[in-house]
Amino acid sequence: MTVASSTAMTYLVTGGAGFIGSHLTDALLARGDSVVVLDDLSTGSEDNLAGHDTPRLRFVRGSVLDPALVDELTGRCDAVVHLAAAVGVKLIVERPLSSFLTNVRGAEHVIEAARRHDRPVLLASTSEIYGKNSGGPLNESSDRVLGATSVARWSYSTAKAVEEILAFGYHREYGLPTTVVRLFNTVGPRQSPAYGMVIPRLVRQAVAREPLSVYGDGSQRRCFTHVADAVEALLLLLHHPAAVGGVFNVGGAEETSIRDLATRIVRRAGSDSRIDTISFDDAYGPGFEDMERRLPDTTKLRELTGWRPQRSLDDILDATISEVRAEQLPALA
Ligand code: NAD
Repeated sequence: MTVASSTAMTYLVTGGAGFIGSHLTDALLARGDSVVVLDDLSTGSEDNLAGHDTPRLRFVRGSVLDPALVDELTGRCDAVVHLAAAVGVKLIVERPLSSFLTNVRGAEHVIEAARRHDRPVLLASTSEIYGKNSGGPLNESSDRVLGATSVARWSYSTAKAVEEILAFGYHREYGLPTTVVRLFNTVGPRQSPAYGMVIPRLVRQAVAREPLSVYGDGSQRRCFTHVADAVEALLLLLHHPAAVGGVFNVGGAEETSIRDLATRIVRRAGSDSRIDTISFDDAYGPGFEDMERRLPDTTKLRELTGWRPQRSLDDILDATISEVRAEQLPALA
């Protein structure tokens, strides 16, 4: 399914040099829109945008924590997609304060600038919103179940909740057209392995024929979304009149335990790696908490837009394995 743009527009994509942001930028440029990327390259890379040689793409190295810059760029664009954030369990656990402040203040600057210039905003939130709620498919009204504030992981969930509350509040009180998407584990090419994302990490270990490190006992269950499916959902929601003021889960349909995932990665990579389990305390430090199951209910998005994930878990794994092999080719030459 390709989503065509009826009238070419200019989008400000914060975090557009990151994993999801660069794929969204590809898609917007492909359909004829223009994109201004604002990114401080803290976890993103200009390489992610290197495939484009067009005046319709402008890259600005800067921070969403700079309100004057955010204001200026917002005024030059027709709509904003806010993806810039401190992301990844490892980063959040290692740098909880700066991550929290980046996410809360960055969102506040972006939404406030959008209000001043009356621009629609699509804001990326997360399945971490649901915290430890493991009670079956999670819909947008499911409860948030969080641990103690002293557990660093929940600061990310809380920061994203504050971002959502800002988006809802600015919509209700100022009429600002805001839409929130809750992305579940999104995977695919260009995702950094450095911040605790499980598939990039396990695939690199399998391709290098090193032991795969499964955290916890591996019985925790997750669904993964191919980034191309996630981007399609964002495009469908952008400017959908009935999406304004709403919140939508975006997630894959195929559930797997992390242990089965590791076995599958070893098999699909043609590897002979063994699978080790590492306690959460050893992986992330004492007191880390995880949830047993996180399964999205995407009925709301499907009923509004017809969206369904098109790529299987094997598609996701094969794409990641191919990318990791291609990265390693120069090293082997
Ligand atoms: P990413 O780290 O690749 O992208 C984040 C981008 O934001 C990076 O390019 C980074 O350099 C940039 N950034 C960070 N701080 C910034 C700042 N102060 N100013 C400007 N740019 C800054 O991660 P991603 O997976 O592409 O995440 C994009 C968005 O999607 C985030 O908001 C994240 O919370 C959300 N999300 C991602 C997932 C996932 O599974 N990947 C799941 C849920 C939600």
